[in-house]
Amino acid sequence: MSELPAIGDHQASKKRFIYCAEQGLLKYAIPALYGGHGNFSDLAEAHEALGKSSLDNGLILSLNAHLWGAIFPILNYGSDDQKQYYLKKLISGAFLGGHAITEPQAGSDLNALEMAAEITDDGLQLNGRKRFITNTPIADLLVVYARLDNKLSAIIIHSDDNGASFLNTPEVTGCKTATMGDVILENCLVPLSRQLGKTGAGNMMVQQALELERAFIFAGICGVMDWQFKQVIQFSRQRRVNGSHLGKNQAISHTIAEMKVRLDTIKLWVNECARLKDNNRRITLASAQTKLFASEAFLQSSLDAVQIMGSHGLVKDSAMTDLVHDALASRLFSGSSEIQKNIIAALSGTGEGYK
Ligand SMILES: Cc1cc2nc3c(=O)[nH]c(=O)nc-3n(C[C@H](O)[C@H](O)[C@H](O)COP(=O)(O)OP(=O)(O)OC[C@H]3O[C@@H](n4cnc5c(N)ncnc54)[C@H](O)[C@@H]3O)c2cc1C
Repeated sequence: MSELPAIGDHQASKKRFIYCAEQGLLKYAIPALYGGHGNFSDLAEAHEALGKSSLDNGLILSLNAHLWGAIFPILNYGSDDQKQYYLKKLISGAFLGGHAITEPQAGSDLNALEMAAEITDDGLQLNGRKRFITNTPIADLLVVYARLDNKLSAIIIHSDDNGASFLNTPEVTGCKTATMGDVILENCLVPLSRQLGKTGAGNMMVQQALELERAFIFAGICGVMDWQFKQVIQFSRQRRVNGSHLGKNQAISHTIAEMKVRLDTIKLWVNECARLKDNNRRITLASAQTKLFASEAFLQSSLDAVQIMGSHGLVKDSAMTDLVHDALASRLFSGSSEIQKNIIAALSGTGEGYK
Protein backbone atom coordinates (compact mmCIF):
# COMPACT_ATOMS: atom_id res chain seq x y z
CA MET A 1 0.00 0.00 0.00
CA SER A 2 3.04 2.29 -0.24
CA GLU A 3 1.68 3.69 -3.51
CA LEU A 4 -1.61 4.88 -1.93
CA PRO A 5 -2.47 8.25 -3.55
CA ALA A 6 -2.11 11.30 -1.26
CA ILE A 7 -4.89 12.55 1.01
CA GLY A 8 -6.72 15.59 -0.37
CA ASP A 9 -10.12 16.62 -1.69
CA HIS A 10 -13.06 14.39 -2.62
CA GLN A 11 -11.42 13.29 -5.85
CA ALA A 12 -8.30 12.28 -3.89
CA SER A 13 -10.52 10.22 -1.58
CA LYS A 14 -12.01 8.53 -4.63
CA LYS A 15 -8.53 7.80 -6.03
CA ARG A 16 -7.46 6.24 -2.72
CA PHE A 17 -10.62 4.10 -2.72
CA ILE A 18 -10.03 2.94 -6.32
CA TYR A 19 -6.39 2.18 -5.57
CA CYS A 20 -7.48 -0.14 -2.72
CA ALA A 21 -10.05 -1.82 -4.99
CA GLU A 22 -7.36 -2.33 -7.66
CA GLN A 23 -5.17 -4.00 -5.03
CA GLY A 24 -7.98 -6.55 -4.52
CA LEU A 25 -9.08 -5.33 -1.10
CA LEU A 26 -12.78 -5.69 -1.97
CA LYS A 27 -12.45 -9.31 -3.05
CA TYR A 28 -12.18 -10.94 0.38
CA ALA A 29 -15.10 -13.15 1.47
CA ILE A 30 -16.72 -12.75 -1.99
CA PRO A 31 -17.59 -15.97 -3.92
CA ALA A 32 -15.08 -17.01 -6.59
CA LEU A 33 -17.89 -16.70 -9.17
CA TYR A 34 -17.55 -12.91 -8.83
CA GLY A 35 -13.77 -12.92 -8.73
CA GLY A 36 -13.54 -13.07 -4.96
CA HIS A 37 -11.11 -14.98 -2.76
CA GLY A 38 -10.31 -15.70 0.86
CA ASN A 39 -12.66 -15.68 3.81
CA PHE A 40 -13.66 -13.29 6.58
CA SER A 41 -10.50 -14.06 8.58
CA ASP A 42 -8.39 -13.08 5.55
CA LEU A 43 -10.51 -9.95 5.18
CA ALA A 44 -9.88 -8.96 8.82
CA GLU A 45 -6.14 -9.44 8.36
CA ALA A 46 -6.04 -7.43 5.10
CA HIS A 47 -8.10 -4.56 6.54
CA GLU A 48 -5.88 -4.38 9.63
CA ALA A 49 -2.86 -4.15 7.34
CA LEU A 50 -4.59 -1.32 5.43
CA GLY A 51 -5.20 0.52 8.71
CA LYS A 52 -1.51 0.20 9.61
CA SER A 53 -0.27 1.42 6.24
CA SER A 54 -2.84 4.15 5.51
CA LEU A 55 -3.54 5.50 9.05
CA ASP A 56 -6.78 6.69 7.45
CA ASN A 57 -10.04 5.87 9.21
CA GLY A 58 -11.95 7.86 6.57
CA LEU A 59 -10.72 5.50 3.86
CA ILE A 60 -11.63 2.51 6.06
CA LEU A 61 -15.15 3.91 6.61
CA SER A 62 -15.56 4.51 2.88
CA LEU A 63 -14.51 0.95 1.96
CA ASN A 64 -16.75 -0.60 4.63
CA ALA A 65 -19.83 1.43 3.60
CA HIS A 66 -19.28 0.24 0.03
CA LEU A 67 -18.64 -3.38 0.99
CA TRP A 68 -21.42 -4.02 3.52
CA GLY A 69 -23.83 -1.32 2.33
CA ALA A 70 -23.79 -2.03 -1.41
CA ILE A 71 -21.86 -5.20 -2.39
CA PHE A 72 -23.23 -7.59 0.24
CA PRO A 73 -26.93 -6.60 -0.04
CA ILE A 74 -26.70 -7.11 -3.81
CA LEU A 75 -24.85 -10.40 -3.30
CA ASN A 76 -27.46 -11.63 -0.79
CA TYR A 77 -30.67 -10.15 -2.22
CA GLY A 78 -29.97 -9.23 -5.84
CA SER A 79 -31.74 -10.81 -8.80
CA ASP A 80 -29.51 -12.64 -11.28
CA ASP A 81 -29.60 -9.57 -13.54
CA GLN A 82 -28.68 -7.22 -10.70
CA LYS A 83 -25.78 -9.45 -9.63
CA GLN A 84 -24.62 -9.70 -13.23
CA TYR A 85 -24.74 -5.95 -13.79
CA TYR A 86 -23.45 -4.57 -10.49
CA LEU A 87 -21.20 -7.01 -8.65
CA LYS A 88 -18.09 -7.15 -10.81
CA LYS A 89 -18.15 -3.35 -11.21
CA LEU A 90 -18.52 -2.80 -7.46
CA ILE A 91 -15.81 -5.31 -6.55
CA SER A 92 -13.33 -3.88 -9.06
CA GLY A 93 -13.99 -0.29 -7.95
CA ALA A 94 -15.48 0.70 -11.34
CA PHE A 95 -18.66 1.57 -9.37
CA LEU A 96 -18.51 3.15 -5.92
CA GLY A 97 -21.47 2.63 -3.60
CA GLY A 98 -22.85 2.92 -0.10
CA HIS A 99 -26.13 2.71 1.79
CA ALA A 100 -28.60 5.43 2.68
CA ILE A 101 -30.66 4.73 5.80
CA THR A 102 -30.43 7.82 8.07
CA GLU A 103 -32.72 10.82 7.49
CA PRO A 104 -32.65 14.34 8.98
CA GLN A 105 -35.40 13.46 11.50
CA ALA A 106 -34.46 9.81 12.22
CA GLY A 107 -31.38 7.61 12.52
CA SER A 108 -31.58 4.93 15.20
CA ASP A 109 -35.34 4.53 14.87
CA LEU A 110 -35.96 2.68 11.59
CA ASN A 111 -39.73 2.93 12.14
CA ALA A 112 -39.48 6.72 11.85
CA LEU A 113 -37.89 6.70 8.37
CA GLU A 114 -40.10 8.62 5.96
CA MET A 115 -38.60 8.42 2.47
CA ALA A 116 -41.45 7.23 0.24
CA ALA A 117 -41.45 5.03 -2.86
CA GLU A 118 -44.47 4.25 -4.99
CA ILE A 119 -45.10 2.16 -8.06
CA THR A 120 -46.34 4.27 -11.00
CA ASP A 121 -47.04 3.41 -14.65
CA ASP A 122 -43.49 4.53 -15.45
CA GLY A 123 -41.61 2.77 -12.66
CA LEU A 124 -40.69 3.43 -9.03
CA GLN A 125 -40.98 7.03 -7.90
CA LEU A 126 -39.14 8.20 -4.78
CA ASN A 127 -39.40 11.31 -2.62
CA GLY A 128 -37.49 12.24 0.52
CA ARG A 129 -34.10 13.13 1.98
CA LYS A 130 -31.26 11.10 3.49
CA ARG A 131 -28.47 12.54 5.70
CA PHE A 132 -24.90 11.66 6.79
CA ILE A 133 -24.51 9.14 3.97
CA THR A 134 -20.89 8.00 3.57
CA ASN A 135 -19.52 8.18 -0.01
CA THR A 136 -22.46 10.26 -1.35
CA PRO A 137 -20.39 12.95 -3.17
CA ILE A 138 -18.29 10.33 -5.00
CA ALA A 139 -20.83 7.47 -5.26
CA ASP A 140 -22.10 6.03 -8.53
CA LEU A 141 -24.96 4.36 -6.70
CA LEU A 142 -26.49 3.93 -3.26
CA VAL A 143 -28.77 1.27 -1.79
CA VAL A 144 -31.53 3.56 -0.52
CA TYR A 145 -34.12 2.44 2.05
CA ALA A 146 -37.63 3.81 1.49
CA ARG A 147 -41.25 2.94 2.34
CA LEU A 148 -42.98 1.06 -0.44
CA ASP A 149 -46.58 0.14 0.46
CA ASN A 150 -45.52 1.62 3.82
CA LYS A 151 -42.97 -1.20 4.26
CA LEU A 152 -39.22 -0.52 4.44
CA SER A 153 -37.69 -1.66 1.15
CA ALA A 154 -34.38 -1.27 -0.68
CA ILE A 155 -33.96 0.46 -4.05
CA ILE A 156 -30.76 1.06 -6.00
CA ILE A 157 -30.41 4.73 -6.95
CA HIS A 158 -27.76 5.98 -9.40
CA SER A 159 -26.17 9.42 -8.97
CA ASP A 160 -27.34 10.41 -12.48
CA ASP A 161 -30.96 9.30 -12.04
CA ASN A 162 -33.53 11.98 -12.88
CA GLY A 163 -34.61 13.73 -9.69
CA ALA A 164 -31.65 12.44 -7.63
CA SER A 165 -29.18 14.90 -6.03
CA PHE A 166 -26.12 13.51 -4.26
CA LEU A 167 -24.81 16.44 -2.15
CA ASN A 168 -21.48 16.98 -0.38
CA THR A 169 -22.91 18.52 2.81
CA PRO A 170 -23.38 18.34 5.73
CA GLU A 171 -20.09 16.74 6.77
CA VAL A 172 -18.99 15.63 10.24
CA THR A 173 -15.60 16.16 11.89
CA GLY A 174 -14.73 12.45 12.36
CA CYS A 175 -13.17 10.23 9.67
CA LYS A 176 -12.64 13.38 7.66
CA THR A 177 -11.29 11.84 4.46
CA ALA A 178 -14.53 9.87 4.02
CA THR A 179 -16.85 11.95 1.90
CA MET A 180 -20.46 12.31 3.04
CA GLY A 181 -23.62 14.26 2.38
CA ASP A 182 -27.36 14.38 1.91
CA VAL A 183 -29.27 12.54 -0.78
CA ILE A 184 -32.34 14.35 -2.07
CA LEU A 185 -34.86 12.43 -4.17
CA GLU A 186 -37.56 14.59 -5.79
CA ASN A 187 -39.98 12.66 -7.96
CA CYS A 188 -36.98 10.46 -8.74
CA LEU A 189 -38.14 7.86 -11.24
CA VAL A 190 -36.29 4.57 -11.68
CA PRO A 191 -37.19 1.27 -13.39
CA LEU A 192 -38.99 -1.35 -11.28
CA SER A 193 -35.95 -3.58 -11.79
CA ARG A 194 -34.02 -1.35 -9.35
CA GLN A 195 -35.87 -2.74 -6.36
CA LEU A 196 -33.47 -4.89 -4.34
CA GLY A 197 -35.04 -7.74 -2.39
CA LYS A 198 -38.72 -8.05 -1.59
CA THR A 199 -41.06 -5.28 -0.51
CA GLY A 200 -40.77 -5.08 3.28
CA ALA A 201 -37.37 -6.82 3.42
CA GLY A 202 -35.69 -3.48 4.24
CA ASN A 203 -35.57 -3.92 8.02
CA MET A 204 -33.82 -7.27 7.77
CA MET A 205 -31.47 -6.01 5.04
CA VAL A 206 -30.44 -3.00 7.14
CA GLN A 207 -29.80 -5.21 10.18
CA GLN A 208 -27.69 -7.65 8.16
CA ALA A 209 -25.65 -4.88 6.51
CA LEU A 210 -25.01 -3.11 9.83
CA GLU A 211 -24.19 -6.37 11.57
CA LEU A 212 -21.29 -6.87 9.17
CA GLU A 213 -20.24 -3.23 9.06
CA ARG A 214 -20.12 -2.83 12.83
CA ALA A 215 -17.86 -5.84 13.31
CA PHE A 216 -15.44 -5.56 10.42
CA ILE A 217 -14.90 -1.80 10.30
CA PHE A 218 -12.86 -2.31 13.44
CA ALA A 219 -10.45 -4.61 11.62
CA GLY A 220 -9.11 -1.55 9.80
CA ILE A 221 -9.44 0.80 12.78
CA CYS A 222 -7.35 -1.68 14.83
CA GLY A 223 -4.49 -1.13 12.41
CA VAL A 224 -4.65 2.63 13.02
CA MET A 225 -4.89 2.05 16.79
CA ASP A 226 -1.75 -0.09 16.56
CA TRP A 227 0.09 2.96 15.25
CA GLN A 228 -1.47 5.15 17.95
CA PHE A 229 -0.25 2.72 20.61
CA LYS A 230 3.30 2.60 19.21
CA GLN A 231 3.45 6.41 19.10
CA VAL A 232 2.51 6.59 22.76
CA ILE A 233 5.14 3.99 23.71
CA GLN A 234 7.78 5.89 21.77
CA PHE A 235 6.81 9.19 23.39
CA SER A 236 6.79 7.65 26.88
CA ARG A 237 10.34 6.38 26.33
CA GLN A 238 11.74 9.60 24.87
CA ARG A 239 10.07 12.17 27.12
CA ARG A 240 12.14 12.93 30.23
CA VAL A 241 10.37 13.83 33.47
CA ASN A 242 12.24 14.25 36.80
CA GLY A 243 15.38 12.78 35.27
CA SER A 244 13.78 9.61 33.99
CA HIS A 245 11.62 8.54 31.06
CA LEU A 246 7.90 9.34 31.30
CA GLY A 247 6.82 5.69 31.19
CA LYS A 248 8.67 5.04 34.49
CA ASN A 249 5.79 6.86 36.14
CA GLN A 250 3.38 4.13 37.18
CA ALA A 251 0.28 6.22 36.41
CA ILE A 252 1.51 6.47 32.82
CA SER A 253 2.62 2.83 32.43
CA HIS A 254 -0.71 1.58 33.84
CA THR A 255 -2.61 3.75 31.35
CA ILE A 256 -0.44 2.27 28.58
CA ALA A 257 -1.17 -1.25 29.86
CA GLU A 258 -4.91 -0.49 29.66
CA MET A 259 -4.49 0.79 26.09
CA LYS A 260 -2.73 -2.47 25.16
CA VAL A 261 -5.50 -4.63 26.67
CA ARG A 262 -8.17 -2.60 24.83
CA LEU A 263 -6.36 -2.91 21.49
CA ASP A 264 -5.81 -6.65 21.80
CA THR A 265 -9.38 -7.23 23.00
CA ILE A 266 -10.76 -5.45 19.91
CA LYS A 267 -8.59 -7.75 17.74
CA LEU A 268 -9.94 -10.80 19.59
CA TRP A 269 -13.54 -9.63 19.05
CA VAL A 270 -12.99 -8.93 15.34
CA ASN A 271 -11.35 -12.34 14.90
CA GLU A 272 -14.23 -14.00 16.74
CA CYS A 273 -16.73 -12.35 14.34
CA ALA A 274 -14.62 -13.53 11.40
CA ARG A 275 -14.49 -17.07 12.82
CA LEU A 276 -18.27 -17.12 13.24
CA LYS A 277 -18.87 -15.83 9.69
CA ASP A 278 -16.38 -18.36 8.29
CA ASN A 279 -18.54 -21.04 9.96
CA ASN A 280 -21.72 -19.59 8.41
CA ARG A 281 -23.04 -18.34 11.75
CA ARG A 282 -24.96 -15.09 12.40
CA ILE A 283 -23.04 -12.42 14.31
CA THR A 284 -25.92 -10.28 15.61
CA LEU A 285 -24.81 -10.52 19.24
CA ALA A 286 -21.06 -10.77 18.62
CA SER A 287 -20.99 -7.76 16.29
CA ALA A 288 -23.03 -5.61 18.72
CA GLN A 289 -20.58 -6.60 21.49
CA THR A 290 -17.62 -5.88 19.21
CA LYS A 291 -18.98 -2.48 18.17
CA LEU A 292 -19.86 -1.40 21.70
CA PHE A 293 -16.54 -2.50 23.21
CA ALA A 294 -14.40 -1.32 20.30
CA SER A 295 -15.86 2.16 19.86
CA GLU A 296 -15.80 2.94 23.59
CA ALA A 297 -12.26 1.50 23.85
CA PHE A 298 -11.14 3.52 20.82
CA LEU A 299 -12.42 6.74 22.41
CA GLN A 300 -10.81 6.02 25.80
CA SER A 301 -7.47 5.09 24.22
CA SER A 302 -7.55 8.20 22.00
CA LEU A 303 -8.16 10.42 25.05
CA ASP A 304 -5.38 8.59 26.93
CA ALA A 305 -2.96 9.02 24.01
CA VAL A 306 -3.56 12.78 23.90
CA GLN A 307 -3.20 13.08 27.69
CA ILE A 308 0.06 11.09 27.84
CA MET A 309 1.57 13.22 25.08
CA GLY A 310 0.61 16.42 26.88
CA SER A 311 0.07 19.45 24.64
CA HIS A 312 2.04 17.65 21.88
CA GLY A 313 -0.98 15.37 21.63
CA LEU A 314 -3.31 18.30 21.15
CA VAL A 315 -1.53 20.07 18.29
CA LYS A 316 -4.20 21.38 15.91
CA ASP A 317 -5.05 19.01 13.03
CA SER A 318 -2.53 16.43 14.28
CA ALA A 319 -3.26 12.73 13.78
CA MET A 320 -3.72 12.26 17.55
CA THR A 321 -6.52 14.84 17.77
CA ASP A 322 -8.10 13.48 14.58
CA LEU A 323 -8.32 10.07 16.23
CA VAL A 324 -10.43 11.51 19.08
CA HIS A 325 -12.92 12.77 16.47
CA ASP A 326 -12.79 9.45 14.59
CA ALA A 327 -13.56 7.64 17.86
CA LEU A 328 -16.53 9.93 18.58
CA ALA A 329 -17.87 9.17 15.09
CA SER A 330 -17.33 5.44 15.67
CA ARG A 331 -19.73 5.56 18.65
CA LEU A 332 -22.46 6.71 16.22
CA PHE A 333 -21.98 5.18 12.76
CA SER A 334 -23.42 1.69 12.08
CA GLY A 335 -25.67 2.16 15.15
CA SER A 336 -24.76 4.09 18.30
CA SER A 337 -23.35 2.58 21.53
CA GLU A 338 -26.81 2.91 23.12
CA ILE A 339 -28.38 0.91 20.29
CA GLN A 340 -25.72 -1.81 20.67
CA LYS A 341 -26.62 -2.02 24.39
CA ASN A 342 -30.30 -2.37 23.42
CA ILE A 343 -29.42 -5.24 21.06
CA ILE A 344 -27.21 -7.01 23.61
CA ALA A 345 -29.86 -6.66 26.36
CA ALA A 346 -32.64 -7.86 24.01
CA LEU A 347 -30.61 -10.91 22.95
CA SER A 348 -29.95 -11.60 26.62
CA GLY A 349 -33.72 -11.65 27.20
CA THR A 350 -34.55 -8.18 28.56
CA GLY A 351 -34.69 -4.44 27.81
CA GLU A 352 -36.39 -2.12 25.31
CA GLY A 353 -35.92 -4.34 22.27
CA TYR A 354 -36.99 -7.62 23.93
CA LYS A 355 -40.37 -8.85 22.73
C1 LIG B 1 -19.01 9.26 10.22
C2 LIG B 1 -20.44 8.84 10.03
C3 LIG B 1 -20.81 8.09 8.92
C4 LIG B 1 -22.14 7.71 8.71
N1 LIG B 1 -22.46 7.02 7.59
C5 LIG B 1 -23.76 6.67 7.36
C6 LIG B 1 -24.13 5.97 6.16
O1 LIG B 1 -23.29 5.65 5.31
N2 LIG B 1 -25.43 5.66 5.97
C7 LIG B 1 -26.40 6.00 6.89
O2 LIG B 1 -27.56 5.69 6.65
N3 LIG B 1 -26.08 6.67 8.03
C8 LIG B 1 -24.79 7.01 8.30
N4 LIG B 1 -24.45 7.70 9.44
C9 LIG B 1 -25.50 8.08 10.38
C10 LIG B 1 -25.52 7.21 11.62
O3 LIG B 1 -25.86 5.89 11.27
C11 LIG B 1 -26.51 7.81 12.61
O4 LIG B 1 -25.98 9.05 13.04
C12 LIG B 1 -26.77 6.91 13.80
O5 LIG B 1 -27.50 5.78 13.41
C13 LIG B 1 -27.54 7.64 14.91
O6 LIG B 1 -28.66 8.27 14.39
P1 LIG B 1 -28.91 9.82 14.67
O7 LIG B 1 -27.66 10.57 14.46
O8 LIG B 1 -30.12 10.23 13.91
O9 LIG B 1 -29.23 9.93 16.23
P2 LIG B 1 -30.62 9.56 16.94
O10 LIG B 1 -31.12 8.27 16.48
O11 LIG B 1 -31.52 10.75 16.86
O12 LIG B 1 -30.12 9.39 18.45
C14 LIG B 1 -29.66 10.50 19.24
C15 LIG B 1 -29.09 9.95 20.54
O13 LIG B 1 -30.09 9.19 21.22
C16 LIG B 1 -29.67 7.86 21.42
N5 LIG B 1 -30.79 6.94 21.22
C17 LIG B 1 -31.62 6.89 20.16
N6 LIG B 1 -32.52 5.89 20.30
C18 LIG B 1 -32.26 5.32 21.52
C19 LIG B 1 -32.84 4.24 22.24
N7 LIG B 1 -33.87 3.54 21.75
N8 LIG B 1 -32.31 3.92 23.44
C20 LIG B 1 -31.25 4.61 23.95
N9 LIG B 1 -30.67 5.65 23.31
C21 LIG B 1 -31.16 5.99 22.10
C22 LIG B 1 -28.59 7.60 20.38
O14 LIG B 1 -27.71 6.60 20.79
C23 LIG B 1 -27.92 8.96 20.30
O15 LIG B 1 -26.99 9.08 21.36
C24 LIG B 1 -23.13 8.07 9.67
C25 LIG B 1 -22.76 8.79 10.82
C26 LIG B 1 -21.43 9.17 11.00
C27 LIG B 1 -21.07 9.95 12.24
